[in-house]
Amino acid sequence: MNNATFKALWVTETPAENSPPTKTVHDRIYQRTVIERNINDLPAGDLLIKVIYSSLNYKDALSAEGHKGVTRQYPHTPGIDAAGIVAQSNCTDFKEGQKVLVTGYDLGMNTAGGFAEYIRVPAAWVMKLPKNLSLQESMIYGTAGFTAALSIFKLQHSGLKPEQGEVLVTGATGGVGSIAVALLAKLGFSVIAATGKTQSHDFLRQLGAKEVIGRDTLQDKSKRPMLKGRWAGVLDTVGGNILATALKSTQYGGHISCCGLVASAEFSTSVFPFILRGINLLGVDSVEYPMTSRSRLWQLIANEWKIESLQQLMIECDLTTLNTTYIDKILQGQIQGRVVVKPY
Ligand code: NDP
Repeated sequence: MNNATFKALWVTETPAENSPPTKTVHDRIYQRTVIERNINDLPAGDLLIKVIYSSLNYKDALSAEGHKGVTRQYPHTPGIDAAGIVAQSNCTDFKEGQKVLVTGYDLGMNTAGGFAEYIRVPAAWVMKLPKNLSLQESMIYGTAGFTAALSIFKLQHSGLKPEQGEVLVTGATGGVGSIAVALLAKLGFSVIAATGKTQSHDFLRQLGAKEVIGRDTLQDKSKRPMLKGRWAGVLDTVGGNILATALKSTQYGGHISCCGLVASAEFSTSVFPFILRGINLLGVDSVEYPMTSRSRLWQLIANEWKIESLQQLMIECDLTTLNTTYIDKILQGQIQGRVVVKPY
């Protein structure tokens, strides 16, 4: 087993002057290919896991493109999510043959990730697959779905209730956004989905959105510190001026969660929404979220919060199509729903 080879997506980095430029970041060229690796070359860890499914997240595409804020060292295999079967275990908590799930921590960042047939990781990053969730379903959720659930969990804990009014979801057709729309609708919220994709309005209505609006309607350019308060809650996945506009348009006592930066990592605001309307702005981090709370939330996702429309949210692909098609598409904001990756 230890000498066996396996398939993996492999991202290499070379100085720009040494090869013909394709994709360059900071004078470096990043190239991707599917290669055969040796299991002995995986990092040390308690558990060797055969990956049955992984999934594509925005962060994976950043890693695959040489974004040093995500991955410092190349060559590297991205993939922040993996669901599979324990192939070797050095600890008593997990047995060979057990179905497990890994999302977040350092997987796919600076530890070889789930876009491969095998990963080796510390046991502290690994969860037993919750009952009532298949390996494939766990990756339809993946980090994006977990982040949607965590955002909703935090909004509810902040006090958001369905009877308070409409909840806006931005980046609604994306991974986090689409699962957020479906989950909020399941929990009885009145969901307004904001999207840049005119062709995806029916998709969002089928997931449970009451109304679909164009993302261009959330681009306030006035210098006004506040606008008419419409939203009881906002689940923002994009940041930038869309977050700033949503903040200005949130009702008195409203709640906003913030997890993403596809529009921009920066946004500008005055203090007025906070000091005159008492708005609660909630940060969401799925990476270091503690394991005990993480397991509890996954139990909720697999049971009371399980979405009926999961299969409708998913496209499945192999490593080659991931490499040639979907990594570029997610960077261009063109994915609808979730891409589940079958690495073998
Ligand atoms: P996706 O690419 O799947 O979705 C992002 C969506 O945002 C797109 O589909 C598009 O939706 C919209 N969008 C794309 N570009 C722009 C733009 N320039 N301006 C406004 N909207 C845009 O990504 P994910 O859902 O996987 O991730 C969303 C964000 O959340 C990312 O920034 C990611 O890094 C972050 N994230 C953070 C986590 C955390 O723990 N904090 C965990 C997981 C993700 P549409 O066309 O419908 O508008």
